[in-house]
Amino acid sequence: MAKKLVSIVVPMYNEEPMVPHFLEKIAEIINVNSDYSFEVVAVNDGSKDKTLELLHDFQKSYRFLRVVNLSRNFGHEAAVAAGLSVAKGVAIIPIDADLQDPPELIAPMLELFEQGYDVVNARRASRKEDAWIKRYTAQKFYKVIDKLSGKVRIPQNVGHYRLISRRVLDEVLKLPESNRVFRVEVPYVGFKTAEVAFTRPKREHGDTHYNMKSMIDLAINAITITSTKPLNFVFKFAMFVGIMGFISSLTQLVLFILEMTNVLVIPFINHGTFLAINIAVILTAIILVNLSLIAIYLAKTFNETQKRPFYVIESVKDNK
Ligand code: UDP
Ligand code: MG
Repeated sequence: MAKKLVSIVVPMYNEEPMVPHFLEKIAEIINVNSDYSFEVVAVNDGSKDKTLELLHDFQKSYRFLRVVNLSRNFGHEAAVAAGLSVAKGVAIIPIDADLQDPPELIAPMLELFEQGYDVVNARRASRKEDAWIKRYTAQKFYKVIDKLSGKVRIPQNVGHYRLISRRVLDEVLKLPESNRVFRVEVPYVGFKTAEVAFTRPKREHGDTHYNMKSMIDLAINAITITSTKPLNFVFKFAMFVGIMGFISSLTQLVLFILEMTNVLVIPFINHGTFLAINIAVILTAIILVNLSLIAIYLAKTFNETQKRPFYVIESVKDNK
């Protein structure tokens, strides 16, 4: 019987120092799991160093290696998406090039796959090794995104690294959005899910490509493709301000009338001025409500109509 094909998808941006270590380690894992055949889809994401040349060279020694070259640097998400689009396996595993996603988990992932799980998440059991600020923001991010996602449960501390079955990948590829965030798309698609836990080691060679800005961008993308609830929140807030302004105006008006008719005398306070301020607040709130309503529809329409490709593949070099 033909062996099942497993695709390992690895995005690479300036990973020159990591390429040999990564391939060596993956070759080891591939040898151990000899019940399967493997392809490693390495995606060069517009590296400025010799990553691409190295990969092409290594294709001579590693038969499992396929090399996808993007036309420029598109970013981590896009590089993974490009790799997924050409992967042929019945099980597909995106993994980082820096060995921070331990390849040893591939065997237990495949075991759970054989037991009938369509998704096997690799969850970081602890974030002790992260700086407190990253730990804190990551925790908040996963909490917020899980709250916003309605019926979809977004697993905490699961990044790209996971196994997905062919049918899950096909469903993910069918999602029409051009703004892609893999870690919220897989849970959206659903299917029977298991997880394996691990502790993330430090990067051994090269540097992280994630800074505060790229993490904020990722969070904003993840939230906007998951839910329009933040806009609803602005809308509700504007409504709240409007209602408060209305109640307050009414009070001021009553007090103003009472003062004018000399029924009530409150020294030092001019209820006429208060009334004017209140009316201004109400008007502002109404404008805000309108603006946020327009923003809801504009954002939706913009996302749906822009339809830019998320990545551009310059070449795919298969190994014979
Ligand atoms: N990466 C990429 N394009 C980019 C930035 C990163 O393909 O623009 C790849 C990178 O080579 C690595 C993975 O994405 O394989 C994760 O990047 P990194 O290790 O820098 O992220 P961190 O582990 O620090 O979150
Ligand atoms: Mg890393």
